[in-house]
Amino acid sequence: MISENFELLVAGTRATLQRVANEFSPAALASSLAAEDMVLTDMILRAKLQDRIAIFTLETGRLHAETLAVLDRIKETYAYELALYRPEEQAVNAYVNQHGLNAFYDSVDLRKECCRIRKVEPLNRALQGKRAWITGQRRAQSSTRAELLLQERDDAHDMIKFNPLVDWSEDDVWHYIRSNNVPYNALHDRGYPSIGCEPCTRAIQPGEDVRAGRWWWENPESKECGLHVVDGKLVRIKSATSA
Ligand code: SF4
Repeated sequence: MISENFELLVAGTRATLQRVANEFSPAALASSLAAEDMVLTDMILRAKLQDRIAIFTLETGRLHAETLAVLDRIKETYAYELALYRPEEQAVNAYVNQHGLNAFYDSVDLRKECCRIRKVEPLNRALQGKRAWITGQRRAQSSTRAELLLQERDDAHDMIKFNPLVDWSEDDVWHYIRSNNVPYNALHDRGYPSIGCEPCTRAIQPGEDVRAGRWWWENPESKECGLHVVDGKLVRIKSATSA
């Protein structure tokens, strides 16, 4: 459902981005190229904040072709190229040689190690020298994000993390995208509300938690990739019954 105060939500999000640009530059948006991140990308680039808020994506080497195609759509629409951060080749080769290319299916530990190599370490590099980072996370996305705040202290990266869409519903996101002709990942039209690496993401069924297609073979409690840490811990779980 579109929020009754949708226009206020949009204005509040724009104000948050402006505040980050004014008070926390250099900052960065970590974009997964999903719908939420495209809303924020559109707002940052239309407000010409990109000199103070960089936009980057973690090119893990396992993304869908449809996800990579969004990079071209951004370039065509905004004449802007996202910075890409890739994993260290040596670390990827060592993991694959020791455990196998798709060893993340074998255990939570091996899945987390793959995420550490392909996502967490490149994220740490991308955030070096920044004073704040921004994500497209929303509280309503899953049980693991129920206690998300607009502004959080991220001790792991020693900076402030902003979640400007924290109060947005999924319908709010799509209302903004359609009203503003924002480019988006074609997988969203094929049952993928949340999109990560290709081997670790699948389409969901109607009524399922929007992140149910991520690491679907694991328990809900383990379903974060290690990128989002609050007070030294992963974002807390309020309820493990959904997802
Ligand atoms: S989502 Fe899957 S393929 Fe991507 S880094 Fe994590 S375990 Fe590896």
